[in-house]
Amino acid sequence: MELFELIQTLNTAHGPSGDEGAVREVIAALARPHADEVTADTLGNLIVRKRGSGPKVMLCAHMDSTGLIVTHIEKEGFLRVGTLGGIAARELLYTPVRFKNGVRGVIVPEEKAEFGKLKLDACYVDIGAKDEEQARRMVQVGDTAVYDTAIFLSGDKVVSPYLDNRISCAVLLRVLEELDACPNDLYLVFSAQEEVGLRGARTAAWSIDPDYALAVDVTDVDDTPGSEKLGTVRLGQGAAVKVMDRSVICHPQLVETLERLAGEREVPVQRDIMRGGGTDAGAIHTTRMGVLTGGVSVPCRYIHTPTEMADLGDAAACVKLLAAFAQEELTRL
Ligand SMILES: [Zn+2]
Repeated sequence: MELFELIQTLNTAHGPSGDEGAVREVIAALARPHADEVTADTLGNLIVRKRGSGPKVMLCAHMDSTGLIVTHIEKEGFLRVGTLGGIAARELLYTPVRFKNGVRGVIVPEEKAEFGKLKLDACYVDIGAKDEEQARRMVQVGDTAVYDTAIFLSGDKVVSPYLDNRISCAVLLRVLEELDACPNDLYLVFSAQEEVGLRGARTAAWSIDPDYALAVDVTDVDDTPGSEKLGTVRLGQGAAVKVMDRSVICHPQLVETLERLAGEREVPVQRDIMRGGGTDAGAIHTTRMGVLTGGVSVPCRYIHTPTEMADLGDAAACVKLLAAFAQEELTRL
């Protein structure tokens, strides 16, 4: 399946942190024809294995998204919500949202709310219920919701909610489709609960005990007006090879290997340092006695807003680079 189609398919599935069942099923179905083994673990990680006689290589993309969770239902029928993952209130105003059971609503700030200091406490979700009783028939405290915004293409750019991190899940599925023989013992992990603290990757890395690991995620850019330079990369300039983020300093050997492979295969790459935020690499590299860990990222604008933007050419470069890494004869440590 093409990348855009894959992202579209993954995005129709509900999957905020801790509630990844639906997206896990979709990914499992897409992976099964190309894998030797597909399993889910206790925390809800999906582990797709392609057997090889070489060292264990773990490629990890989180499949959970940020989301909202109902905390209170008011007597007028409005909902108050908390966040799953890092979402700033000002980023989500007047956004349509969708609950797992299909109920739809919109996030609205109170009229007296001050935009500059806006907190989520001063916002509510309006599902159109006439009172508390009707609202309770539609949703319950603890139900989760996700952005219900459109996905579209503009040239090579894809605009969509949850490119973080469905675009990387799509990338890993494409890598799996493209692999012929695999000299390494390859584990593609679609991790759970990254957005709330890298929780799934931590247990998956412990159980797999990999020799090498790469986190595959989106990364911040430095290419928009008034950029605060939280990232170093630009859309359309290729796959981002992670040097560092707030959770990890990548092993120099992996940065070097990825840049060498990119040179050999003529894959465009750029160096990635993300000053705010981490990735699953943070949890993986400190597992057990330590794991040789790096990261390959898709540059992404407006991360965690209802309309993220990425370049399909960059995602395709990530597929090429990761497929090259998966098929490289790595030495056992
Ligand atoms: Zn992410």
